[in-house]
Parts: sequence; C-alpha cells; structure tokens
Amino acid sequence: MKIGVLAVQGDFAEHIASLRKVGVEAQEVRLPHQIEGLDGLIIPGGESTTLSRLMSIYGLREPVERLCREGKGLWGTCAGMIMMAREITEEDPEPLGLMDIGVQRNSFGRQIDSFEQDLEVDAFDGGPFHGIFIRAPGVIRVGAGVEVLASLPDGQPVAMRQGKMLASSFHPELTKDTRFHQLFLDIASDLTSDLTSGGSAASL
Ligand code: GLN
Repeated sequence: MKIGVLAVQGDFAEHIASLRKVGVEAQEVRLPHQIEGLDGLIIPGGESTTLSRLMSIYGLREPVERLCREGKGLWGTCAGMIMMAREITEEDPEPLGLMDIGVQRNSFGRQIDSFEQDLEVDAFDGGPFHGIFIRAPGVIRVGAGVEVLASLPDGQPVAMRQGKMLASSFHPELTKDTRFHQLFLDIASDLTSDLTSGGSAASL
C-alpha cells in the first residue's frame, strides 16, 4: 500500500511522518505522474488559495479528480478539506468539488482562530481525539451521502466521510495520535464499511 501526500504547500511533512509511523509507504507528490499507482492521497493543511493556484500550475487538479473517480482514498485536512468541498462561500479558491459539503473559510474568526477541542469519534476506540484547529474552515452544509464522524460540542461537523473520501477541519498530523491516519488507511483499503449509500466517489 502506498499513500501520497500533496507536497506543493502546507504541512505535508507532518502527514508523511504520521503515515510512516503507522507503517505505510508514504510519498511526496509534486507532479501529476507521481499520483499514478497510489492507493490514496492526502491534501494537507496550509493556505487554500495558494494550494489551489499551485495545483492548477502543476496540472494536479485532473489527476487528483481521476484518483478519486477511480475509487482510491482521498483525505483533506483543513485547507485540504476546503479544496475537496463541492462549494465554498468565497470566490477564491476554486475547490475541486469532490465531497458533497459546503465550506466557509476561516469561519471561527480572528479572536479564536486557533483552538483545541477533544472530539468524540465513534469510528475508532481509545477515547476522545485531540483536535487542533488552526484558522479552521467551517462546514456549513453536509450532503445526504456524507457521514459525519466528529462534531464540535455545538454540533458543527468537523470530520466527515463520503465513500473513500475523508475530510477534517482540524490537524491530526500535528498530534502524536495516529488513529485518523489509520482510519484513512482502512478506508482506502476497503477495511471499513461506508455507512452511507451512494457515497462512492467512483459515481462522480
Ligand atoms: N485558513 C486557511 C485557508 O483558508 C486554512 C488553514 C489551515 O489549513 N490550517 O486556506
């Protein structure tokens, strides 16, 4: 099994380290051909406008969409989640439109633009997951085929799954806890059942 991490901008090094910790082969992806043969791809956190521009410049949009259509795993964290969204409230960036969610950038405002919150996650054992939110996007719409895996105490979704796609508005790669990385591997390799119907990216 081989997982790629988009390495044009953002905290890709931390994702690579977390993947290696769970014992999977991890590869930095900067060019379209590096997506071939991957079982899954992570779009890391960073700055979504920059990420979007660089993805266009390097011709990475189409190969990422194709990977998703072919039923490989795709996980976006924070800015990566913004890129995966079907729609966002701002004009910039232009998201890939792969996961049926609506997202607002920097939705927690300047005062509390970074915070930490323990999250209950039913998808795995071992107690709450420590969520680190950094200028995090807010999820303002969740489509019928999307399963919410974790929410803030006020009910706002922060981790979601649709078929083999995973999205989180926080940064599991900035903790020592590798349970989300393990979950992504399980999803990418079909070891977990998708509770939702019609969520397959292959049907896009
Ligand atoms: N605020 C950033 C954006 O809108 C995302 C921040 C992050 O990825 N930590 O792109």
